[in-house]
Amino acid sequence: MFKEFTQQLSSRFDSPQQCVILPHKNPDGDALGSTLALAHFLKNKGHQCHVISPNEYPTFLSWLPGEEAIICFTKEEEKAIALIDNASVIFTLDFNALGRIAPMDEYIKKSSALKVMIDHHEAPQDYAQLRYSNPALGSTCEMVYNVLNEWDKATVNKDIGTCLYTGIMTDSGSFRFPSTTATTHKIVASLLELGVNHAEIHQKIYDSYRFERLQLLGICLKNLRRIEPLKAVYTSLSQNELNQCDFKKGDTEGFVNYGLSLEGIKLAVILIENKQEGIIKMSFRSKGDFDVNQFARNYFNGGGHINAAGGASHESLETTRKKLEQSILDNSKHLQ
Ligand code: 5GP
Ligand code: MN
Repeated sequence: MFKEFTQQLSSRFDSPQQCVILPHKNPDGDALGSTLALAHFLKNKGHQCHVISPNEYPTFLSWLPGEEAIICFTKEEEKAIALIDNASVIFTLDFNALGRIAPMDEYIKKSSALKVMIDHHEAPQDYAQLRYSNPALGSTCEMVYNVLNEWDKATVNKDIGTCLYTGIMTDSGSFRFPSTTATTHKIVASLLELGVNHAEIHQKIYDSYRFERLQLLGICLKNLRRIEPLKAVYTSLSQNELNQCDFKKGDTEGFVNYGLSLEGIKLAVILIENKQEGIIKMSFRSKGDFDVNQFARNYFNGGGHINAAGGASHESLETTRKKLEQSILDNSKHLQ
């Protein structure tokens, strides 16, 4: 599938193009890794390229090669809109529903540029003329590797490899999730052959925390509740608790996974209050066949993958906790 996609895409780049490349809101390692890798590749081929992030990203990603050139929509709105208006090609990477880049989505809808989607989430929306969508793959970075390798292997260099390695590593939970395949490892091997420093990347992502971040993790673990007698747990962090620990963007990344480290637990959820946006942001993680993508869609206006999804609630933290408990109880036959 990606061969035909790549052929159609690369033929568009026979002449110089002006590209805008978009990750989803609150971009993670996969979203930033894939967008930056593609930007490096296209720039090396002589095209104009700008990565525009819908909002800010955490400091543990602010060392990726090329990240200093990222335009943040919330900080440089006018510049971002002008670039979108002038773009001949718009890439949307690591998301498949335009709501994931709101309020930028309205400018993308208006644009007459060729729209290209590369993504591994379930149920893609129909906004892109060119689409490479495969929920079986563990990361968008793996998909971008497939495309670039097919397009022009010689242009894939160490910087591109570093960006791609980061996304493959973070989205696979450091190569431990079931979506990690022999092909994933072969791709990673070829990235290491480019000189990518895997130990340094791991350290930059996972050993760069602030003291307050570990204290926040302590509160999060203390708040963990089991929904007896089901194999489900959830935890929450209120805005007060976040403030106590001088919360910075990205501090809660990975917290939800601790629940799944308990023996037998099939579902873990975290609720994070955001008073400024007036929402409770939710993350869902599961093991086995409990489909959190469907669960997040059904109850919390969200989505994602079968074992990792997100959503949001506009109710109070207390009301959201109650709704969550009830929704879990309604699905109890899958959580025995
Ligand atoms: P996280 O819990 O790490 O924020 O996200 C887990 C997965 O669900 C990611 O693949 C992410 O893109 C997706 N996701 C997170 N929040 C939302 C949301 O509000 N809506 C949708 N459709 N997907 C989400
Ligand atoms: Mn991803």
